[in-house]
Amino acid sequence: MKEKCPCGSNLEASSCCISIIKGERPAATAEQLMRSRYTAFTLSNADYLIKTHHHSSRNIMDVLESVNYLKKADWQGLEIKKTKKGDKYSTSGKVEFIASYILDGQLERIHELSDFINEDGQWYYTKGVHF
Ligand SMILES: [Zn+2]
Repeated sequence: MKEKCPCGSNLEASSCCISIIKGERPAATAEQLMRSRYTAFTLSNADYLIKTHHHSSRNIMDVLESVNYLKKADWQGLEIKKTKKGDKYSTSGKVEFIASYILDGQLERIHELSDFINEDGQWYYTKGVHF
């Protein structure tokens, strides 16, 4: 079955975020990691979200709480607004995005500027500010 990736890349899920989530390849850029984390949210994959949240700022209870809260969300899509650095030669990067979902009949938006760091070829989410 060929399904488009939930992240909106227009690629097949299996060759986009799913291959990153399964650990078949690393996210090459901060944006790819961001996209894979969005897709992980659509799949309620808490393990992946914990694994890709840098340990320096990770709060496992918070991650589990958000995943649990968003379990019933009907994800509407991801829009990448801006990226800064975050290519495969950078050690840090920023991604501004809007993720939308419907929960309890309400359209909600998460508009965030997220920070990422690259350690030994692996991208991690560190923190984000909401708009
Ligand atoms: Zn994707």
